[in-house]
Amino acid sequence: MLSGISRRSRALRGHVFPKPLPNSSSINLARLPPALLRPRRFMCRNAASDNEEVAAKAAAKIADTGAPTIFDKIIAKEIPSTIVYEDDKVLAFRDINPQAPVHIVVIPKIRDGLTQLGKAEVRHAEVLGHLLFAAKLVAEKEGIVDGFRVVINNGPEACQSVYHLHLHVLGGRQLKWPPG
Ligand code: 5GP
Repeated sequence: MLSGISRRSRALRGHVFPKPLPNSSSINLARLPPALLRPRRFMCRNAASDNEEVAAKAAAKIADTGAPTIFDKIIAKEIPSTIVYEDDKVLAFRDINPQAPVHIVVIPKIRDGLTQLGKAEVRHAEVLGHLLFAAKLVAEKEGIVDGFRVVINNGPEACQSVYHLHLHVLGGRQLKWPPG
């Protein structure tokens, strides 16, 4: 029978702990390479998630001001994305920071107040169903229909970073449960 401590040290064996980040007030954002400034979902899952959580909280503060998000630029094709499915209501494109071999983001083309699932109202029921059906079509197209996961991060405590409702469709590897 393992004690609590030895159980924990077994579980942590081989785990690489990230170096502590410098105090955020000493970081000059203008000098960081753009790749470091992109949303990094994986950071939300480990002990070094403070920055991600701070960024998610900051994004949440302007969520309902009507401010455009990066997804508006993707819909308008002002910035490039790899589109895998599109119809009159939804757009599906590859995530820039994939968390699985297949990682597709599915969004409504018109936000209509749906900054996050928690803001859904009765009038959104149709588009919500449409998004879920599109997720299934995407899974079929990507060849993962026998094993995929649909995720919606809702709000700062779930590390939502873009306030335009979106589904993550993940697959192409063995997915763990509890989520991982
Ligand atoms: P959230 O963190 O809000 O649940 O998910 C937002 C997702 O959008 C993240 O997985 C992030 O990688 C993705 N993302 C953010 N900016 C871009 C972008 O410019 N292009 C693409 N393709 N994905 C993006």
